[in-house]
Amino acid sequence: MTVANSSSKIIYADNAATTKLDDDAAALMFDLQKNFFANPSSSYKLARPLKKILRESREKIAACINAEPHEIFFTSGGTESDNHAIKSVALAHLSERPNIITSAVEHKAVLNSCAALKNLGCTVTILSVDRFGAVKPADLHEKILPSTKIISVMFANNEVGTIQPIETLADIAHAAGKIFHTDAVQAVGHIPVDVKFSGADMLSASAHKFNGPKGIGFLYVRDGVELPPYIDGGAQEFSRRAGTENIPAIAAMALALEKNCRDMNQNATNVAACTKILLDCLRANGVDFILNGGENRLPGHLSLSFKDCDGEALMHQLDLKNICISTGSACNSRQIKISHVLQALAIPENYIRGTIRVTFGKENSRDDAKIIGKHLINCHVFKSLLKSFRKEVIV
Ligand code: PLP
Repeated sequence: MTVANSSSKIIYADNAATTKLDDDAAALMFDLQKNFFANPSSSYKLARPLKKILRESREKIAACINAEPHEIFFTSGGTESDNHAIKSVALAHLSERPNIITSAVEHKAVLNSCAALKNLGCTVTILSVDRFGAVKPADLHEKILPSTKIISVMFANNEVGTIQPIETLADIAHAAGKIFHTDAVQAVGHIPVDVKFSGADMLSASAHKFNGPKGIGFLYVRDGVELPPYIDGGAQEFSRRAGTENIPAIAAMALALEKNCRDMNQNATNVAACTKILLDCLRANGVDFILNGGENRLPGHLSLSFKDCDGEALMHQLDLKNICISTGSACNSRQIKISHVLQALAIPENYIRGTIRVTFGKENSRDDAKIIGKHLINCHVFKSLLKSFRKEVIV
């Protein structure tokens, strides 16, 4: 995707961080914001269209993941959905010192929810992953305790794109009589997500990851699963999530998801072609790198670890060329902190620091992939030339 800014074109390839708001969703959101201001809970006729939009949005979203409309409730996004699902189940059993099982590669919304519960007396079991980032089903089977109340494993990983064996994990959880939650923030709108097939009892999603607006998302809760409210207040959202509904954002989210699901095959083919172009380009130029996340990955997702490189430096060099990608580490003034996901994959020491994440979205073209490849090779060659030059000087 190229974005016009005041002076130059930008190639945006960081779609796992966020996506550009779909044009139709934006137009709908602004129209509703401006012209439909009533509170959907009010009883006069000005509020009736709002109630209808809320109902229809719920129906559209439910249809996209094969749920029933009353199983969807709206939240402020992925973080809130994850917090609600995990904390509300665990807190309802706090006096029994509940156990929570999750994986080492979850988003911080899950891991820090678990850490907060641990401080309150819960026990937390963290499942390790294989070198591609996948949870081993046998490991889950082995680790379930009588005190386990909820198991939370993400649908697809935000850093390396690995798609987890969700159906198998949900089956194992159910065979032991446990609730299974999945953070599907990176999956919904990009790969098929069918709650009846996957077997998840609860599923988190976030609109800004599928070309919807920021600050809105939803939590699917299977009929029959008891989930106490997390935010107390009014009776909105079947008394599960209090607060006046953000109708413009909800309607825009529903439209964006509907469009992404309708065009899913076409979008997936396009982003998969972009990843192939970039990989072919790097391989043809003899660049030494590891492709993280294995074959069973999100189609537009590339996590690449370059040998003896600095991912942060690569990211900044691409930024100078108006290319937006991200890295696998966070840098403060004194040290580089490698992400917990990359550490869990046990990427060799001389590659892990050179990790970048390129995530293509529906607005990216194959030319974008070629341009990124070209600039990456230049950065890489530049770096290795610089290294050998330095070695010569030192020797
Ligand atoms: N879970 C995953 C896997 C994510 O990638 C993100 C966002 O990066 C979140 C949760 C948090 O979502 P939100 O930004 O909507 O709070």
